[in-house]
Amino acid sequence: MSIQENYGNIKNQLPSTVELVAVSKTHSVSAIQEVYDLGQRVFGENKVQELVEKHPLLPKDIQWHLIGHLQTNKVKYIAEFIDTIQSVDSEKLLNEINKEAAKHHRKIKVLLQVKIADEETKFGLEIDEAKNIFQKFVDGAYSNIEITGLMGMATFTDDKDQVGREFQILKDLFDELDKTKTLETLSMGMSDDFPTAISCGANSVRVGSAIFGRRDYSQ
Ligand SMILES: *Cc1c(COP(=O)(O)O)cnc(C)c1O
Repeated sequence: MSIQENYGNIKNQLPSTVELVAVSKTHSVSAIQEVYDLGQRVFGENKVQELVEKHPLLPKDIQWHLIGHLQTNKVKYIAEFIDTIQSVDSEKLLNEINKEAAKHHRKIKVLLQVKIADEETKFGLEIDEAKNIFQKFVDGAYSNIEITGLMGMATFTDDKDQVGREFQILKDLFDELDKTKTLETLSMGMSDDFPTAISCGANSVRVGSAIFGRRDYSQ
């Protein structure tokens, strides 16, 4: 299937209240432009260097989301233009983003990435860490950051019940924090599990291969 057909397919499956982040990592500038031309404006990349290379070659009204692990020493390369950093997994990183955003007189939107998967490899904050950081934000600690929501990745498994249980953990935390200060974005779900994520309350999904096709890491 073509990118155009894939994109139409995904859009048809998403309720209008659910935001689509088109995950374009490893895919070419021309493939991204093709999806842009179909009306997509929000794209996600997981590596700073790749994002910094693509960003100047594509339309300026793209809202770029960083969705991969971010090292503090790389924040400076994206602070000027990044729309949302979905992968905040430490307080140290949050402090750095706040500092770099201030240099550019911006407020950068961030999501706290919370560990919900039953896997050692996934980055993310523990639930209690996320609560503590959010409270500091509510108390005014980060003037150049807006914590707009939460992001999480479920375990890579065919067990839909397990995936659902993990997404539910994040949804519960979202509802709890939302009582203190309104949150906008609950980002969970990828190509293989976004329908489950949406049924668990996700209002933003990060879909890559179901739009762009399989990623080729061999080059
Ligand atoms: C690659 C990636 C995605 C998209 O994965 P697909 O399975 O291709 O849809 C979503 N979220 C994160 C954090 C990713 O790194």
